[in-house]
Amino acid sequence: MPGKDFAAHKYVDGRGVFYLFPALCKGCGLCLEKCPVDTIGWTERTGFLGTSTPAPGFGDPCIACRLCEFVCPDCAIRIDKIAPDKTRVH
Ligand code: SF4
Ligand code: SF4
Repeated sequence: MPGKDFAAHKYVDGRGVFYLFPALCKGCGLCLEKCPVDTIGWTERTGFLGTSTPAPGFGDPCIACRLCEFVCPDCAIRIDKIAPDKTRVH
């Protein structure tokens, strides 16, 4: 589709790296409903149907629980956990 950029949208929030694949996201909103820290919101970037796509950064920081990745019916999200800072003394 000319003019469409379907490269993954990459966001870093809290403990997670959030990848959104616009060629798969239909904008159903299930990921927004299920995120336990309500960090997912709508962006102005669109998916393959022309609907808004989700991104983190709207609530408390992402805890990298991966619930959004599991509930997405279209496998449009991938979460990578950011490793804890090993240099920190707890
Ligand atoms: S659950 Fe999946 S398809 Fe639905 S809005 Fe979220 S990323 Fe898009
Ligand atoms: S990994 Fe968990 S906390 Fe992070 S955006 Fe997804 S559902 Fe929310």
